[in-house]
Amino acid sequence: MERNLPMLKSSISRRLTIYSLVLIILPLLICSIYMVDYFYKINIQDKTSSLENQAKTVAAISHIYFEKKDNADMSLLQAISSDTGLRITLVNTSGEVVYDSSHDSESMDNHEDRPEIQNALHTGIGSSIRHSETLQKNLLYVAVPVYDNGVLLGVSRTSLSITPLEKSYDSMRNNILFIFFAVTIIAISIGMILTRRFTNPIKQMTLDAQKIINGDLSTRMRINTADELEFLAAAINKLTSRLLRKINDSQAKAHTLSLILDNMDNAVILLNENGLITEANKQAKDMFKITPDIIKTYSINFIGNTVISDTAKTCAQENKNKKITLRIKLGATEKTFIVFFAPFTSETKQSIVCVFHDISLMQEITDRQNIFVANAAHELSTPLTSIKGFSETLLDSDLTEAETSRHFLKIIYEESCRMQYLVKNLLQLAKLNSNDYKKQVATTNIDCTDALKKIIKTMTPFLEQKGQFFETNFSSENLVIKANPDLFTQIFINLIENAVKYSPDKGKLLLACSRDKDKAVFTIKDNGVGIAKTDIPFIFDRFYRSDKSRARQDIGGSGIGLSLVKFLVELFSGKIFASSELNKGTTFTIIFPLQRNIDS
Ligand code: ADP
Repeated sequence: MERNLPMLKSSISRRLTIYSLVLIILPLLICSIYMVDYFYKINIQDKTSSLENQAKTVAAISHIYFEKKDNADMSLLQAISSDTGLRITLVNTSGEVVYDSSHDSESMDNHEDRPEIQNALHTGIGSSIRHSETLQKNLLYVAVPVYDNGVLLGVSRTSLSITPLEKSYDSMRNNILFIFFAVTIIAISIGMILTRRFTNPIKQMTLDAQKIINGDLSTRMRINTADELEFLAAAINKLTSRLLRKINDSQAKAHTLSLILDNMDNAVILLNENGLITEANKQAKDMFKITPDIIKTYSINFIGNTVISDTAKTCAQENKNKKITLRIKLGATEKTFIVFFAPFTSETKQSIVCVFHDISLMQEITDRQNIFVANAAHELSTPLTSIKGFSETLLDSDLTEAETSRHFLKIIYEESCRMQYLVKNLLQLAKLNSNDYKKQVATTNIDCTDALKKIIKTMTPFLEQKGQFFETNFSSENLVIKANPDLFTQIFINLIENAVKYSPDKGKLLLACSRDKDKAVFTIKDNGVGIAKTDIPFIFDRFYRSDKSRARQDIGGSGIGLSLVKFLVELFSGKIFASSELNKGTTFTIIFPLQRNIDS
């Protein structure tokens, strides 16, 4: 368990063990030392007081030995010494040894400097423990003064070997030391067991906490100590659960947010305070080709427009939302964006969110609408100017010149027909453009050959006006397509009208219909003026005319017809193509899907 714990300078168990040992052993040690010392001192005191009494007794009878030194009978003192085991020494005031029960006094040193002698002479009693050089033992000396009729004669000293006392002191010290060490070992063992019991749950909690810190939020502390630790473990478990819930919640929110961000139409880029790209959603990555190595290393300027970084800087400085419209070149195309900038601060760092709202389509629609309105206004104003001019001329004249008046009225009529044609076509286009109308267009199976034959019948008088004629080449197969019969007819009438219009008198118009796999292929071919190759890609655009000056002379030449034709062809899932050669003729090819299960 210990090996998985982090390196700690001091563990609780070590500290607790040391504290408890200090608490137990230190008083024990002090107590032991005190007791041994006390025992020794008491014994010494005891011995000292008994030696003092004995020294006093000797002093009471020893004054005679100081006076008759040379011939004194020392047998009494010798008897006392051998009976009591005491060593008796008599020392005169000069320090000379008068008598010693253990040694020849003549050969002994002067004892004046002995501390017990000095003290006895000056204070009335003296004692000391010293190693006797004479007896080669540690002795306890006690000395008292000896008086004779108030005259100080010397000192009576009794001494006793303290070796037995020292031996019993050593034995007692050894016993106490043994008990002390035994108690210490027992205390350490019990202390360690108790400490471990106390610290094991803490170690377990530390390990669990380590797991939680390392990110394993499923870890729970299982502590059953029924004390504050259990309460602490339960509190940590609650905190961990709450943290896990919060993390899960924020992860779910972050996931939802990233899903929204990645699936929204707008490109979103996050910039840091230095204008570096720090995040980008899928749309932004795809649109601006933001690769992982660009993130955090490239400035937003890499998109190709410094206005973005300038606006982002202002937005950060002013801490205000900003909005700009700008065009950005993306490969071969150029797109228009409204870019929203919003500053925000996270962890003291400022960032800016840039949302790129692509308005290219809206812009294109607006541009087209403007062009359309301008073209329509222009197309209408031409005949209107003409009508107004000729009407004014007629009003100013007295209408006497019938021929001229008729000519002017004819022009007014033709111009008004042209206007009517244009307005009619525009209305039809607008109507067809509405989704509701498209849904309402009823379709039915159309037999192609039958339908074309009817169209030829209707249009033949029109061709004959210019001495032109139809040539046909219809498939023998029964080709059936699905379309609205009136609108199908209108497609061909428009194309035939153009062919007649742009072909010389007595020209030939080929109308063919064949099958190509599951498609019906229609061809309208004239031998007229043709269309320049450069104009062909634009002839289906509204108001487009390959030869404006020429077309304007003809009634109905407004550049709307072919765009209406294309629109109608595509309404019935068809396709239309044009091929032409100047002054040789033009061919329009229309392809419609054939209806299934209908065979010739
Ligand atoms: P318009 O009313 O001017 O004929 P369209 O949309 O029908 O308008 O035709 C657009 C232009 O395409 C015409 O102005 C004309 O220049 C050219 N065009 C169409 N059909 C033919 C054709 N059969 N031969 C030559 N030019 C044609």
